[in-house]
Amino acid sequence: MNERDEADWSGPGEAFATLGNETRVAILHELWAAAREGPLPFSELRERVGTRDSGQFNYHLTKLCDRFVRKTDGGYTLRAAGGMVVAAMLAGQYEDGGFDGPVSTGDPCPDCGGEVALTYEDERATIACLDCDYAVASANVPPGVFEGRDRTDAPVLFDRWLRTRVAGVAGGFCMACQGPTEARVAPAVDEGSRAAKFAEATDVHVEYECGRCGEVVLSTVPEAVVHDPAVVAFYHEHGLDVGALPSWQLPWLTAAPAVVSEDPLRVGVTVTLGDDALSLTVDGGVDVVSTDAGSVADAPPTDRPLVE
Ligand SMILES: [Zn+2]
Ligand SMILES: [Zn+2]
Repeated sequence: MNERDEADWSGPGEAFATLGNETRVAILHELWAAAREGPLPFSELRERVGTRDSGQFNYHLTKLCDRFVRKTDGGYTLRAAGGMVVAAMLAGQYEDGGFDGPVSTGDPCPDCGGEVALTYEDERATIACLDCDYAVASANVPPGVFEGRDRTDAPVLFDRWLRTRVAGVAGGFCMACQGPTEARVAPAVDEGSRAAKFAEATDVHVEYECGRCGEVVLSTVPEAVVHDPAVVAFYHEHGLDVGALPSWQLPWLTAAPAVVSEDPLRVGVTVTLGDDALSLTVDGGVDVVSTDAGSVADAPPTDRPLVE
């Protein structure tokens, strides 16, 4: 049970109703634009918004106060919730919720040598091979991620954006409501769970669930160990920075991890680089419990690819 199930939704409903007015949205936007100037006095804010009628302006401003706008001695400033409203509008306001054609990563598919490219349609981005089933990642992305950036950079931008989001939820913060998240390795999705709507999560994977809004972010066990010190050091010893490499240059990221033991749950991930391998064992709470360096020949075999 989380707050999404328990909450009295009249509060949030009222909050959205408060925003259904052009003057109020304009007030939030002007306060956001003036964030570095400090609080704006009433008359200055009214002038910037462009409302002549002082009484009417005051009425709208008062509606925003407390929840979205803070009134101080020096004037008005945005509260965090007001800033998030403006940020959400900026992230989603662009028209390009899709690209005309795939954007190549410039790297060949590790499975078939074909073209690995990003496609972006209806605000869903996918990096996958255009010629076979090899897939790197897929997620809904607001168009603001790509707006104003070079189109050829889109695959790298999407990859970095997604990994940053996973790092955020792994760090304990829900990206939707900022609530606390809890991580667990889930051996498989049970039909009734919130994660069941994600068809790809039928195998061992990681779930980050928000205790406040119930948002579930699904990720993979290999993704959870990318920033582990042993993995960072392993790449460093080979003269590489694992954090700077895009996901499609880390083929082990998309290999299915092996369930080593079910009780207690232990999952093995094998990081490979040339002829060298690093084996990590992860427990049910997504903590690395052991690491073992060796060669590829010694490494346990991995299953079929997890991401489909
Ligand atoms: Zn391929
Ligand atoms: Zn949340």
